Amino acid sequence: MVRAINEGPKISFEKKTVSAMIEIYYKQFSDEAHQLEEEDVANYAMARLNYCRFGEDKPTCKVCPVHCYKKSYKDKMQQIMRYSGPRMLIYHPVMSVEHFMKEWRYKRVNK
Ligand code: SF4
Repeated sequence: MVRAINEGPKISFEKKTVSAMIEIYYKQFSDEAHQLEEEDVANYAMARLNYCRFGEDKPTCKVCPVHCYKKSYKDKMQQIMRYSGPRMLIYHPVMSVEHFMKEWRYKRVNK
Protein backbone atom coordinates (compact mmCIF):
# COMPACT_ATOMS: atom_id res chain seq x y z
CA MET A 1 0.00 0.00 0.00
CA VAL A 2 1.30 3.45 -0.91
CA ARG A 3 1.02 5.96 1.93
CA ALA A 4 -0.26 9.43 1.09
CA ILE A 5 2.16 12.30 1.49
CA ASN A 6 1.41 14.69 4.38
CA GLU A 7 0.40 17.99 2.81
CA GLY A 8 -1.88 19.54 5.42
CA PRO A 9 -1.48 23.18 6.48
CA LYS A 10 0.37 22.49 9.75
CA ILE A 11 2.90 20.13 8.25
CA SER A 12 3.36 22.42 5.23
CA PHE A 13 4.17 25.24 7.64
CA GLU A 14 6.64 22.97 9.43
CA LYS A 15 8.30 22.08 6.13
CA LYS A 16 8.84 25.80 5.50
CA THR A 17 10.21 26.28 9.02
CA VAL A 18 12.64 23.37 8.81
CA SER A 19 13.76 24.44 5.32
CA ALA A 20 14.44 27.96 6.63
CA MET A 21 16.51 26.58 9.52
CA ILE A 22 18.56 24.40 7.20
CA GLU A 23 19.11 27.35 4.85
CA ILE A 24 20.29 29.62 7.68
CA TYR A 25 22.76 27.01 8.89
CA TYR A 26 24.32 26.37 5.47
CA LYS A 27 24.60 30.09 4.62
CA GLN A 28 27.85 30.10 6.57
CA PHE A 29 29.49 27.75 4.02
CA SER A 30 30.14 28.27 0.34
CA ASP A 31 31.95 25.09 -0.74
CA GLU A 32 30.41 22.40 -2.90
CA ALA A 33 30.61 19.68 -0.24
CA HIS A 34 28.39 21.69 2.09
CA GLN A 35 25.99 22.54 -0.75
CA LEU A 36 25.56 18.83 -1.44
CA GLU A 37 25.16 18.14 2.26
CA GLU A 38 22.49 20.85 2.52
CA GLU A 39 20.54 19.28 -0.33
CA ASP A 40 20.85 15.84 1.22
CA VAL A 41 19.76 16.96 4.70
CA ALA A 42 16.85 19.01 3.28
CA ASN A 43 15.65 16.09 1.15
CA TYR A 44 15.90 13.74 4.10
CA ALA A 45 14.00 16.08 6.45
CA MET A 46 11.25 16.67 3.85
CA ALA A 47 10.89 12.91 3.30
CA ARG A 48 10.52 12.40 7.06
CA LEU A 49 7.83 15.09 7.21
CA ASN A 50 6.08 13.78 4.11
CA TYR A 51 5.62 10.40 5.73
CA CYS A 52 5.48 11.33 9.44
CA ARG A 53 3.11 8.89 11.13
CA PHE A 54 1.56 11.68 13.23
CA GLY A 55 0.46 13.74 10.22
CA GLU A 56 -1.14 17.04 11.16
CA ASP A 57 -0.97 16.14 14.87
CA LYS A 58 2.80 15.74 14.91
CA PRO A 59 4.83 17.27 17.70
CA THR A 60 8.06 19.04 16.84
CA CYS A 61 10.68 16.43 15.94
CA LYS A 62 12.74 17.52 18.94
CA VAL A 63 10.15 16.22 21.41
CA CYS A 64 8.86 13.35 19.28
CA PRO A 65 8.53 10.08 21.26
CA VAL A 66 9.43 8.03 18.17
CA HIS A 67 12.12 10.05 16.43
CA CYS A 68 12.32 8.40 13.05
CA TYR A 69 15.63 10.00 11.96
CA LYS A 70 18.74 7.90 11.40
CA LYS A 71 21.36 8.80 14.00
CA SER A 72 23.67 10.65 11.61
CA TYR A 73 20.79 12.87 10.40
CA LYS A 74 19.48 13.33 13.92
CA ASP A 75 22.90 14.57 15.06
CA LYS A 76 23.17 16.90 12.05
CA MET A 77 19.68 18.32 12.61
CA GLN A 78 20.46 18.95 16.28
CA GLN A 79 23.55 20.89 15.18
CA ILE A 80 21.45 22.85 12.67
CA MET A 81 18.72 23.61 15.24
CA ARG A 82 21.26 24.79 17.81
CA TYR A 83 22.77 27.22 15.31
CA SER A 84 19.62 28.35 13.51
CA GLY A 85 17.15 28.36 16.43
CA PRO A 86 18.21 31.73 17.90
CA ARG A 87 18.71 33.23 14.42
CA MET A 88 15.18 32.28 13.38
CA LEU A 89 13.88 34.95 15.76
CA ILE A 90 15.62 37.55 13.60
CA TYR A 91 15.02 36.13 10.11
CA HIS A 92 11.64 34.40 10.57
CA PRO A 93 10.07 35.51 13.88
CA VAL A 94 6.55 34.20 13.10
CA MET A 95 7.84 30.73 12.23
CA SER A 96 10.09 30.79 15.26
CA VAL A 97 7.31 31.67 17.71
CA GLU A 98 4.92 29.15 16.15
CA HIS A 99 7.55 26.41 16.42
CA PHE A 100 8.25 27.28 20.05
CA MET A 101 4.53 27.35 20.91
CA LYS A 102 3.96 23.98 19.24
CA GLU A 103 6.72 22.45 21.34
CA TRP A 104 5.45 24.13 24.51
CA ARG A 105 1.85 22.96 23.92
CA TYR A 106 3.00 19.38 23.28
CA LYS A 107 5.14 19.31 26.44
CA ARG A 108 2.30 20.76 28.52
CA VAL A 109 -0.19 18.12 27.37
CA ASN A 110 2.30 15.21 27.53
CA LYS A 111 3.96 15.89 30.89
S1 SF4 B 1 10.81 12.62 14.28
FE1 SF4 B 1 8.72 12.15 14.92
S2 SF4 B 1 7.57 14.00 14.48
FE2 SF4 B 1 9.49 14.13 13.32
S3 SF4 B 1 9.02 13.30 11.32
FE3 SF4 B 1 9.80 11.59 12.56
S4 SF4 B 1 8.00 10.62 13.49
FE4 SF4 B 1 7.38 12.65 12.70
